[in-house]
Amino acid sequence: MPKPPITSSLPIGTRLAISVAVLLGLLLAVATVSLSRIEGISAVTRSIVEQQAARLTLAQDANRHAQAAATRLFQLLITFDREQRIPIYTIMDGELAGADEAVEALGKHELSPAERGHLERIVALRERYDELFRETVEQVEMDGPGSAREHFTFHTQPVLSDFLKETSAFAADQQQTMRDCLQSLDEQAARARLLVILLGLVTLLVGSASAWAIARSITVPVGEAVRVAQAIAEGKLDQQVPPGGSDETGQLLRSLETMRDSIASREEKILRLAYQDTLTGLPNRTRFLETCASLPSAGCAVALLDIDRFALINNALGHPVGDRLLCEIAPRLAAGTPPLAMARLWGDQFAFLLDCADRETAAAFAEATLERLCAPISVDGQRLDVAGSLGIALCPADGDEVATLLRRAELAMKTAKRRRSRYAFAGDCGSEPTHEHLSLIGEMREALARREFEVFYQPKYLLGESRTAAAEALLRWRHPDKGLVPPGRFIPFAEQTGFIAEITPWLLDEVIGHADAWRKKGLVIVPSVNLSTLDLLNPQLVGHIAGLLERHGLPANGLCLEITESALMEEPELALKHLDQLAALGTKLSIDDYGTGQASLAYLKTLPVNELKIDRTFIAGVHATPKNAAIVRSTILLSHELGLAVVAEGAEETAELDWLREARCDLVQGYVIAKPMPQGDFLNWLDAAR
Ligand code: C2E
Ligand code: CA
Ligand code: CA
Repeated sequence: MPKPPITSSLPIGTRLAISVAVLLGLLLAVATVSLSRIEGISAVTRSIVEQQAARLTLAQDANRHAQAAATRLFQLLITFDREQRIPIYTIMDGELAGADEAVEALGKHELSPAERGHLERIVALRERYDELFRETVEQVEMDGPGSAREHFTFHTQPVLSDFLKETSAFAADQQQTMRDCLQSLDEQAARARLLVILLGLVTLLVGSASAWAIARSITVPVGEAVRVAQAIAEGKLDQQVPPGGSDETGQLLRSLETMRDSIASREEKILRLAYQDTLTGLPNRTRFLETCASLPSAGCAVALLDIDRFALINNALGHPVGDRLLCEIAPRLAAGTPPLAMARLWGDQFAFLLDCADRETAAAFAEATLERLCAPISVDGQRLDVAGSLGIALCPADGDEVATLLRRAELAMKTAKRRRSRYAFAGDCGSEPTHEHLSLIGEMREALARREFEVFYQPKYLLGESRTAAAEALLRWRHPDKGLVPPGRFIPFAEQTGFIAEITPWLLDEVIGHADAWRKKGLVIVPSVNLSTLDLLNPQLVGHIAGLLERHGLPANGLCLEITESALMEEPELALKHLDQLAALGTKLSIDDYGTGQASLAYLKTLPVNELKIDRTFIAGVHATPKNAAIVRSTILLSHELGLAVVAEGAEETAELDWLREARCDLVQGYVIAKPMPQGDFLNWLDAAR
C-alpha cells in the first residue's frame, strides 16, 4: 500500500499558504536583488558622474586655462605697445587663476595614489610654469617682447607643453577610468540580469514543483476516494481504503472507510433481518425458500412441524410465555442430526429440509424430533408439556418445487393433527387439486350466484320408533356441463380457499327455511348441517345462525349441527367457545365421523354435544366383523352412559340394520334407509314411508 506523502500531514489550506508564501518570498528576493543591483549600478553611475566627470572637467579646465594663458602670452610677445598689453595681463591673470583653481580643486578630490602622483606632477609643472611665465612677463616688460620670446621658447613653452601634456594625460586617464567604470557597470548589469533571470527561473521551478506537489497531494487521494466510492456503490464492501494523511483528503478517506464499514454492518443487519427469525434466531421462511430453491437432485424431503395446542398456551398464558416457549423449542429442534436447512416459518411452524427421500429415514427424523420436543419445558416456573405434529412431503414423489412440497407437508401435518398420529406423509393424505378441481374452484363463486348449488337430504332413521326423526343436509352442485358434482370434489377446496364461508350461510338459510316449511306442514324433522373447520372458527357463525332461526321462526332445537373432531382440533379453544355458544342457543350438536380421529369419549364428554355419529368404516359389515362390532357396541353403550344419542352412518345392508337395532343404536343413516335426495323427493319419500 503506498505511503501517504509527508505533505498530506498538513492541511490543504496550510499547504497552499506555505507554497504561496514561498513563491512570494522568492519574488521578494528577486525584487530585492534587482533593486539592490539597480541601486549599486546607479550609485556607481552617480560616482562616475559626480567624481570622475568632475575631475575630468577640472583637468580639462586646468588645461584650457593654461592654454588660454599661453595664447595670451603669445599675444603679449607680439604686442609691443605697453598700453595694449595691460588688458592682456588681466585676462592672463584670470586664466592662470582659473588653471590654479582647477588644479587646486583636483587636489581636494579623493584620488588614487597613481592619480595623486599625477596631480603632484601637474602641481609642480604648474608652479614651474607660473615661475617661468612670470619671468617671461618680466622680460617682456624689461627687455621687450623680442628678447622675452627667446625665454618663452626655450624655458616657458617646454614647461607649458609638459603641463598641458600632463593635464591632458590626467584627463585622458580620467576618461579611461570612466570607460573602465562603465564597462564594469555593464558587466555588473549583465551579472544582475543573469541573477534575476536565474532567480526568476528558480522561482518558476519552485512554484511549479510546489503547485505540482500540492495538486498531486490533493488529486491522488481524491482519485483514491473516487475509486473507493465507486467500488462501494458497486457493492464491493471488502474494498481496501488506503491510509490517508492527517489532512482533509485523509479525513475524506477515513470517512469513506467509516461509511463503508457502516454500510457493511447495516447490510449485514438487513440480511440478518431479512433471513433470520428475530425471535428464535433460526433462519426464516425467506431463507428456507432460498436454500430449498436449489434442491439436491438426488431427492430430499420437506418436513413441517406445528406445535400442538400452541394457540391455547398463547391465549391462556399470554404471548410472552408463548414466545419464550418457542425460544426454548428452537434449540431442541436444532439439536438432532442437522437437516440441510431448518427454519421457523411463522407462529409455531418449523420447517426442515431433509437429505433423504425414503420414508424410513424421514420417519426416523420425525420420531427423533418429536421425542426431543416432548420433554417438559419450564417457562416462568410453569411446567409445559409440549407436543407437535409433523407433516412430511417427499421429493420428487410429492412434488419437486419447494412451494408444492411445503403445501403438501402442511396438509400432511394437518392430517397428522387430525388423526393425532404425531406425523403423517403427504402421500397418505390425498392428492393435490387436479386441473378439474382448479377449474371448479374458479367456478364456485359464480355457481352460487347462478343458484347451481342444491341441498339433498338423507334421512336419519329413529330405529326405536321406526320413523324418520331427522335428516342430514348434503350439498350438491348441479353443474351445467359436469352434471351433479358430489361434495367430495369441491368441499375440500371450498375449505382451503375460504369459499366455504360463503356457501355455509347460504346452505343454513336454505335448510332452516325448509325445516320451517316442513313444520308448517306438520312434519317435525330436525335437519343437520355440516360445519367445516373454517365455519366453526368464524366469529359471525353463532350470530348468523341465531338471526336465521329468528327470521324463519324455527326453534333452535329444530336444527342440528354436525362437527368433526378435526374441526375442533385446529383451534380448540375458539371452536369450543363457539360450540358453547351454539349449545347455549339451544341447537343440537353432533360429532361427525366418530372413530376416524383420536378423540376419546372421555374428551367428547366434556363437549356440549347431543349426538355421536359413528363413521361408516365401522358400520360397513359390522354384523360380520367382530372387531368393528365390539367397537360399535361399546361406543353405543358408553355414549348412552354419557347421555349421547348414537347415529350409525353408512348402513347399506339390512343385516347391518338388524344388528344395529339389536345393539340399541338410536339412529341409522345409510343407503339401507335412503340415499341423499332433493328436497321434493325427500318429502315424497317421507309420504311413501308413512
Ligand atoms: P358426511 O358428513 O360424513 O356425510 C355422509 C356421507 O356419507 C354423504 O356423502 C352420504 O351420501 C354418504 N353416505 C350416506 N349413507 C351411505 C351409505 O350407506 N353408503 C355410502 N357409501 N355412503 C353413504 P356425500 O353427500 O358425498 O358427502 C360427503 C362429505 O361431504 C360429507 O361427509 C361431508 O363431510 C361433506 N359435505 C357434504 N355436504 C356438506 C355441506 O353442506 N357442508 C360441509 N361442510 N360439508 C359437506
Ligand atoms: Ca355429516
Ligand atoms: Ca359422517
